[in-house]
Amino acid sequence: MDLRDSPEEAAFRQRVREFLRTNLPKGWRAFGLGMARSNAERDFLHDWQRRLNDAGLLGLEWPKEFGGQGASAAEVAIYAEEAAACGAPQPLNVLGLSLAGPTIMAHGTPEQKRRYLPKILNCEEVWCQGFSEPGSGSDLASLRTRAELKGDHFVVNGQKVWTTYAHLADQCMLLARTDQNAPRHRGISFLLVDMKTPGVTVRPLRQMTGEAEFNETFFDNVVVPRGNLLGPLNEGWRVAMTTLASERGGAGGVAMGARYFAVLTGIVELSRNVKRNGKAAIGDAIVRQQLAQFYVDVSGLRYTAGRIATMLRQGTGSGVMSSIIKLTWSELNQRMQNFVMELQGPSHQLVAGSPHAVENGRWQYEFLRSRANTIEAGTSEVQRGILAERLLGLPRGH
Ligand SMILES: Cc1cc2nc3c(=O)[nH]c(=O)nc-3n(C[C@H](O)[C@H](O)[C@H](O)COP(=O)(O)OP(=O)(O)OC[C@H]3O[C@@H](n4cnc5c(N)ncnc54)[C@H](O)[C@@H]3O)c2cc1C
Repeated sequence: MDLRDSPEEAAFRQRVREFLRTNLPKGWRAFGLGMARSNAERDFLHDWQRRLNDAGLLGLEWPKEFGGQGASAAEVAIYAEEAAACGAPQPLNVLGLSLAGPTIMAHGTPEQKRRYLPKILNCEEVWCQGFSEPGSGSDLASLRTRAELKGDHFVVNGQKVWTTYAHLADQCMLLARTDQNAPRHRGISFLLVDMKTPGVTVRPLRQMTGEAEFNETFFDNVVVPRGNLLGPLNEGWRVAMTTLASERGGAGGVAMGARYFAVLTGIVELSRNVKRNGKAAIGDAIVRQQLAQFYVDVSGLRYTAGRIATMLRQGTGSGVMSSIIKLTWSELNQRMQNFVMELQGPSHQLVAGSPHAVENGRWQYEFLRSRANTIEAGTSEVQRGILAERLLGLPRGH
């Protein structure tokens, strides 16, 4: 297989580079994935999404009929590589673009597609994902938030937790129990909920990085029109599987492959600048061996992510492959971030704001944020369980 750019792909790469060069503020370097920590950052990410949209670089993997670019898998990978190489942030509506959009395209009525998809692309409506609850994370099917159907509307009561971006969101993908008597997976429905509806309360949760990226979200007699049901009543579990497959390994997987290649490039650079036994660390045989192993791991991740993206496009579904990619990127990033701490020696304790912190504490932030990687979007243990049962055919665990 020839993985070099064709002339058309090389032209696309050039277009992306030019866009990033002229649109990113000078010296811009996003921490993490470019979170909206302050109003200024939120406004910047909103504007960033608008610029991408205007330049025809947003919704690359979305089909043209839904306002996307219908780009090839290679073009999606090229954008991801170039954006990661210069630390470009994700657009503000990342959950709308990567989770809500694909789920509505797959299960929405024509009216729902017309209503929601354009506002995801132009960032008029930012989305959050209300799946997890206190006591229902890995075991999502045990969720207790209730939606009672009363004629032409549902009345929702319950609590969600770890709701990323709920404090910014206009819309929520909500999983709620609509049949108390059905078997657990069969009594759940997928609702599209306007976050401005009376009865919705959002309380931020602070993480060890210091930022409040996610929230507790409460629903107290929240009225949701029946027309906001996505997919059939009581079949929300099947709809949610589309969301989870996109979250664990869809186009996001390609971005992760590119992103961790950029992280590795940063680690190689760091190894040239920090000292080990009085010499540049990169001269140390153990450091070099570790860097080579990371290169092998990141390459495997990139090619596997590309393969999954192609499978999704061909409509064959990614199956358990999305669990492989989720497990791989999250554990690889933690290994890389642990290594960066070792590489810095005692100065790894200096965080942003300290005058002697390496690269102004960028790696300390990345290290702390990486702790969440093996939890968010499904824990490593759960991914291993899925692979054991569905790929290896081992007996079901408890
Ligand atoms: C940064 C971040 C962002 C998030 N954003 C969102 C969001 O936007 N929306 C949303 O709905 N959720 C979100 N989540 C929640 C996330 O999906 C859950 O945290 C995750 O599914 C784990 O659930 P839990 O926290 O309830 O842990 P639990 O399910 O209680 O798990 C606790 C421990 O038990 C282990 N365990 C559980 N079941 C099994 C099993 N069957 N076999 C082996 N081990 C098991 C787990 O691996 C874990 O180590 C986010 C989480 C994080 C960290």
